[in-house]
Amino acid sequence: MPWARTGRLARLPSRMQPAVFTGRSLHSGMERSENKTDYISLALPEGEISMTTIFSSDVRCAVCGQESHVSQIGSTNSFGSPDLDTRPPEMKRSTIWAWVSCCPGCGYCASDLAEDVGELNAIVHSPDYQARLKDERCPAKANEFLCQALIAKHLGRLQDAVWATLHATWICDDSAEHAQQAIECRKAALALLLEAERAGDPMFDEPAGSGAMRVDLLRRSGDFPAARAAVDSMIVGADESIIRSILVFQKHLIETGDAAAHLVSEAVDFVEKKGKRQ
Ligand SMILES: [Zn+2]
Repeated sequence: MPWARTGRLARLPSRMQPAVFTGRSLHSGMERSENKTDYISLALPEGEISMTTIFSSDVRCAVCGQESHVSQIGSTNSFGSPDLDTRPPEMKRSTIWAWVSCCPGCGYCASDLAEDVGELNAIVHSPDYQARLKDERCPAKANEFLCQALIAKHLGRLQDAVWATLHATWICDDSAEHAQQAIECRKAALALLLEAERAGDPMFDEPAGSGAMRVDLLRRSGDFPAARAAVDSMIVGADESIIRSILVFQKHLIETGDAAAHLVSEAVDFVEKKGKRQ
């Protein structure tokens, strides 16, 4: 299901598969093991096992050759409902800081700094890129995602650029003082989403999925008139039940002037309760 997707930029490079560590039930917190693998476990019913593995590794930057110490996600899990914009629930939600790394030598930002994806010297050393990386109005991790988006766009990977920009948005969402930057990121993600669709590289395979994302980006940016126009144009033709539920719920949120984050499960519950009232 496309709505369960959280972005391919966050995937783990195959060369860095971790050793297996498990966290037992009702154990929480973070521990550091001797082999540099951190793990976080989540409280679960007795007997169930859950874990996120984060491990550290020295990598050589594919752009400048400098070695640096980075953290990578070995494994994680998601329990519960994603947000309407696909932001995953915990534990994956809290691993976002490890989805992108930044080379301290040149500023190259990527999910895997060692992966050679082509000639990137010009883009990484460009004034626009370096200014973005050092933009003090945004959290540093958001800047890393936005730089990753610049590189993706430079490489013609528009779909990846949308996801990286959305990830920057989520970083900004997590600090109240960056609410305006979150809106700016959402507008940038929307522009990239539309560009990707025009280029035949849509964010989701199903047009309805991209449409529902467009509505959420508009609503959470506070552009209620545009969000309402978008939802009205899509709601009639939406036949996939989950997308239709999301659009019906989005229409309700737009009508009540609600620009906050909400869960997909709230949309399902809303439509279910609405059906019972009728
Ligand atoms: Zn570098």
